[in-house]
Amino acid sequence: MHEVGTTSTSSPNNGFSRSLTLPGKVAVPSPMARQIARELGHCVPVKQSIVTLDLEGVLVPEIWIAVAEKTGIAELRRTTRDEPDYDKLMRGRLKILEAHGLKLSDIQEVIGNLQPLPGGRDFLDALREWTQVLILSDTFEQFAQPLMRQLGWPTLLCHRLEVVQDRIVDYRIRIPEQKQKTVAALKQLNYFVVAAGDSFNDTAMLGEAHAGFLFHAPENIRRQFPQFKAVDSYGDLTKLIRQAVS
Ligand SMILES: [Mg+2]
Repeated sequence: MHEVGTTSTSSPNNGFSRSLTLPGKVAVPSPMARQIARELGHCVPVKQSIVTLDLEGVLVPEIWIAVAEKTGIAELRRTTRDEPDYDKLMRGRLKILEAHGLKLSDIQEVIGNLQPLPGGRDFLDALREWTQVLILSDTFEQFAQPLMRQLGWPTLLCHRLEVVQDRIVDYRIRIPEQKQKTVAALKQLNYFVVAAGDSFNDTAMLGEAHAGFLFHAPENIRRQFPQFKAVDSYGDLTKLIRQAVS
């Protein structure tokens, strides 16, 4: 509200509350200005946070390394930490599975025996007590279920395999760069986003987030992306997330 005779363009609402004044009258904002001011008044100061976490290497072991160890197929040890081109990596994995006659159920059996990294479940539970958490992973729905059960069913956004009679014939990326795009969408929703991951496929997400951290990242990734603080314990990661949010 503005006093008589003032030109009412300045306001905490970036000029949206511009109102008309008449000599000798108290200014009354237009209905539209009032509505916009009301909306901005509700949303601008809010800093609700959400944390987006990578899955493999952050909360659970690398699935493909476990499969490599169980099957003795060394080529399956390559992960996003070694190969930045995800399509190249996945095409290679599918060829290897085909060559060795490995089916979806074989891999699911291995995954069924995996457990979250020590402390991973406690870290996630504690985080979810005070902020929203989304797991953003380039794994597949068919692989993730046993691990999500052990993590208390957090929300997971990932991809899907194409399976014909237990044979993995292809994979479907729901949308390219889903991690980065999810963070961008959350920012559009006025969330303050903190992200953490360990691999090449996380760095676009970390860069998009208001604050991005490397967790359990190998030396080559730390060196290549020095702009992201790197830590190795859940305690240190929790501290960084808390600092970023406060
Ligand atoms: Mg990872």
